[in-house]
Amino acid sequence: PVRYYDWIAHHSRRTPDKTAVLDLASGRRFTYFEFNDRIARLATHLRDALKVSRGDRVAVLALNTTDTLEVQFACGRLGAVFLPLNTRLTVPELQFIASDASPKVMIYDTDLAETALSVATLCNVASALLLGPGGSYEAGIAAGKPLARAEDVTLDDISTIMYTSGTTGHPKGAIITHGMTFWNCVNLGGPAYINPSTVLLTVLPLFHTGGLNCYTNPALHAGGTVLIMRAFDPGQTLQLIGDPAQGINVFFGVPAIYQFMAQHPAFATTDLSRLIIGGVGGAPMPVPMLKAWEARGVALQQGYGMTETSPSVLVLDREDAARKAGSAGKPVLHTEVRIVRPDGSDADIGELGELWVRGPNVTPGYWNRPEANKSSFTDGWLHTGDATRVDEQGFYYIVDRWKDMYISGGENVYPAEVENVLHQLGAIAEAAVIGIPDAQWGEVGMAIVAVKPGQKLSETDVMTHCAANLARFKCPRQVRFVDALPRNATGKIHKPTLRKEFSVTSE
Ligand code: ATP
Ligand code: MG
Repeated sequence: PVRYYDWIAHHSRRTPDKTAVLDLASGRRFTYFEFNDRIARLATHLRDALKVSRGDRVAVLALNTTDTLEVQFACGRLGAVFLPLNTRLTVPELQFIASDASPKVMIYDTDLAETALSVATLCNVASALLLGPGGSYEAGIAAGKPLARAEDVTLDDISTIMYTSGTTGHPKGAIITHGMTFWNCVNLGGPAYINPSTVLLTVLPLFHTGGLNCYTNPALHAGGTVLIMRAFDPGQTLQLIGDPAQGINVFFGVPAIYQFMAQHPAFATTDLSRLIIGGVGGAPMPVPMLKAWEARGVALQQGYGMTETSPSVLVLDREDAARKAGSAGKPVLHTEVRIVRPDGSDADIGELGELWVRGPNVTPGYWNRPEANKSSFTDGWLHTGDATRVDEQGFYYIVDRWKDMYISGGENVYPAEVENVLHQLGAIAEAAVIGIPDAQWGEVGMAIVAVKPGQKLSETDVMTHCAANLARFKCPRQVRFVDALPRNATGKIHKPTLRKEFSVTSE
């Protein structure tokens, strides 16, 4: 097996004085030399003072900070396993994850101290480190001598356990190897224009694959510079992207991020011309929203991926972004895909089927989930659960999750398609469609929408617009108005919550 080799150590020799990371909230900026030195000292401290050894899990519960990245790399040098935790979860939810992954150390920030320490106590975590000025994390780095020799770690070893977003149920711990992360860097480098000149702004949470691997790890792998925002703020994001002194040229967000930015008053006037790439993925991106960005000169590059594939599977080339708006693109280098019928045979061009993925960026399995490991793979192919089709030219379209599809009068309805049509209504800020039980049709659609502040929209407006643009069986039969839609920590609309709230038998 190929040895894992920490790329921060490499860049600290080649470009020691270049900025590796900038922590926007604290203003701390570390060169590759400094970043590498901190990682090396942290590794020693974890090993000698906290007795972390090969295979042990090290948890981090913190809002975005460059420290989280140091923990990831320090774990790599010890052969230990990085366990980033979702900051929006409650104590019982975190307790579920922490007892599943049983970390040896809990690293946390002041804002989350109470939660982190409760979880640590409940799950018998042996030690804890507090981030920030005067905290035990900084003291540990100051005390630790740089680790002289990294452990012998291979690309097949586990680097991270990353829990899925929990959009469809309980989060599952996806095992991420060093090789998966490495191959994702290789796969994304070309289409996302990641190179040593990259200056990336990361606003998505680092505990999620979108924040960590789109494109934080690839940018660091390439020797670029990464700016880390503590928590996404649309105004601050626009201001930073528009600021020539920052030089930000690469950005990634889930659809909600682009939506909130497009609805911000500064959107119309911000200079977006330095952005080479604005990547988007993680959830269906309504085409009207792509058009709003295109009108500002940014052709958003859609991609598709999942935690289990660390994450990139499909990417749309920048050149095709406008022409193929709505497509998630083509498979990345070194990753194979198939579209499969329920009976396991390959679907035809244009025919909807489930996307399956195989390649060195695909997880070997879930942590402690023998059942899921059995049902999620066939001969090394991971079943994504996503309904997908491919066109004549080989462009893939993610239609929706199979689980979100509902059947109305014998016809399959994919909510994402209906949501796309709803977003054509300018007054709609957010929209989601779910299937609800119906005596006559089996299931019918219910649209749940949030209207933009100061705008008006009636149930009839929604119905009339749908009737003009969608086949009858796809038109929602009911509309509910809400202030905002429930979202998970990644910013995805949480449909189980909507179903629980609204899925009463329709009249
Ligand atoms: P869980 O698996 O816990 O239910 P999750 O699937 O949302 O949560 P992630 O791994 O963060 O967890 O997300 C991967 C999923 O996101 C994909 O399976 C797909 O459904 C959706 N997705 C990703 N990219 C796109 C895209 N470009 N268009 C539509 N959906 C996407
Ligand atoms: Mg999933």
